[in-house]
Amino acid sequence: MAKRPEVDIFNVLTPGRMTETTVCIIGAGPAGAAAALQLAQYGIHSVIVDKAFFPRDKVCGDGLSGKVITALTRIDPSIAERLQQYTDKINSWGVTFVSPGGVSMDVPYKPQYNTEEDAPIGFVCKRISFDQFLVDEIKRRPEISFIEGVSIDQYKLEDDGYLLSEAGGSLHIKAKLVIVANGAHSSFTRHVANFTIEPAHHAAGVRAYYRNVTGMHKDNFIELHFLKPLLPGYLWIFPLPNGEANVGLDMISSAVKKKKVNLKQLLQTTIQEDPVLKERFRDASAISPIEGYGLPLGSKRRPLAGERYLLTGDAAYLIDPFTGEGIGNALYTGRIAAEHARDAIQANDFSADALASYTDHVYRVLGAELSLSHRLQKLVRYRWLFNFLMKMATKNRQLRDLVSCMFYEVDVRKKLASPVFYLKLLFNR
Ligand SMILES: Cc1cc2nc3c(=O)[nH]c(=O)nc-3n(C[C@H](O)[C@H](O)[C@H](O)COP(=O)(O)OP(=O)(O)OC[C@H]3O[C@@H](n4cnc5c(N)ncnc54)[C@H](O)[C@@H]3O)c2cc1C
Repeated sequence: MAKRPEVDIFNVLTPGRMTETTVCIIGAGPAGAAAALQLAQYGIHSVIVDKAFFPRDKVCGDGLSGKVITALTRIDPSIAERLQQYTDKINSWGVTFVSPGGVSMDVPYKPQYNTEEDAPIGFVCKRISFDQFLVDEIKRRPEISFIEGVSIDQYKLEDDGYLLSEAGGSLHIKAKLVIVANGAHSSFTRHVANFTIEPAHHAAGVRAYYRNVTGMHKDNFIELHFLKPLLPGYLWIFPLPNGEANVGLDMISSAVKKKKVNLKQLLQTTIQEDPVLKERFRDASAISPIEGYGLPLGSKRRPLAGERYLLTGDAAYLIDPFTGEGIGNALYTGRIAAEHARDAIQANDFSADALASYTDHVYRVLGAELSLSHRLQKLVRYRWLFNFLMKMATKNRQLRDLVSCMFYEVDVRKKLASPVFYLKLLFNR
C-alpha cells in the first residue's frame, strides 16, 4: 500500500474502491507533468499516477535544451520563469564538439553571447531535481490529483473507459481517456499499442556522476566527444552545479549488438585510456554507479493514439535520433495530448478515429525535425565527413555559427542534412 501522498486524494487510495476520472495520466515525468499542467490550464481535472515516490532519479544526460523553456512557456509563462530562477541547475552557453580526428571546437548557442545580459538558452539539471520541480508545479494545482508509489500494470478496455489497476494491488481507476506517459519501458506501449523495440530505431545509454573533472569550459559548455572507438556513438560530459558532471555514452542499439559492445565498460575504458580524457579524469571520482537505460528513437513514424488512449514522450518513442534529446519532446507531446484530450472531452468521443488527429499533430510539430535528425545520425557514420566538417568549421566562422544553432534550430539542421550544403562547402573554401 502506498504512503499517503501530500495531495488529498484519500478517496482514490481507499483499498478496494474504484475511482472514476475523465483523464488518467500514467507517469509523472516530463511528458505526464506537461499533460497534467496543460489540462489544469484548461480547467480539466486529471489523476496522475507514478510508480515512484518523488524525488526520484531517471538515467539521463540531464541536458535541457531551449525546447524546455519554450514548452513550459506555452503551458504557463510563470512556470518557465520559475525554472529560470531555479537554483539547482547550471546555465550552459554552448557546446564543445570533439571530432573523431581529435579536433575540438567550441560553439556558443548564440554568437557573441553575454552571460550577464542574455537569457540562457540551455541548462543542465539533474533529473532528480528537474522532475521534482515539475512535481512541485503539479502540486500547486488543485485540478490535479497526484498519486505516488503506485504502479499501473493492468489495463482493461471496457465500454465506458479503461479500468487501470495496480498489479496485485487494490487500487482501481476508471478513466474515459488514458494519457500514457510512463517512459521508454512502458508496458502499455508494448502490449496495447503493440510497439516493438527495433534496434535500428533505438539506442542504449549509460551515465554516471563524477566530481572534479578538470578542463571544463568557463561558461559551462556541454561536451560531445565523437571519438573514433565510440562511433556511431558519442561520449558526453555535461557540467553540473557544485563541481559535478554527468558523464555518459550512447549508441544506436543495432551497433551495440553488431559490435557486441558493453557500454559501461566502454565508458570506463575511454575515460581511463583516451590520452586527453585520462588527464582530465586523473583527480576525478565517480559519485554514482554507472547506470543504463533505453532511448526509443523517433526515427520512424508510428500511430500514437488508439481507442481511449494517447501516447506521449518516451512512451511514444520520440527521442531525437541525433542528439538523444527527449525531455523537450516529452513536454511538447504532453501538452499536445492535453489539447486533444480537451477536444475529445468536448465532443464526448474517445474513439480511435476521433483521437487519430493527435498523431498527425505530433508529427506536424516534430516530424521534420525528427527525420532531419535521422539523416544526421546516419551522417555521423561517415567519419571522414565529420573530420572534414570540423576542420572546416574551426577555420570558418559562418560554418561555426551554423553548427552553433544545430541543436536548437531546425532550419539549420535542414541545411546540414542537405548534400548541396557539403558541395557548396567544398567548392567555396
Ligand atoms: C542515458 C540517457 C541520456 C539522456 N540524455 C538526455 C539529455 O541530456 N537531454 C534530454 O532532453 N533527454 C535525454 N534523454 C532522454 C530523456 O531521459 C527522456 O526522453 C525523458 O525522460 C522522457 O520523459 P518521459 O516523461 O516521457 O518519461 P520518463 O522521464 O521516463 O518518466 C516516466 C515516468 O513514468 C513512471 N512510470 C513508469 N512505469 C509506470 C507504471 N507502470 N505506472 C506508473 N508510473 C510509471 C516512472 O516512474 C517515471 O516517473 C536521455 C536518455 C538516456 C537513457
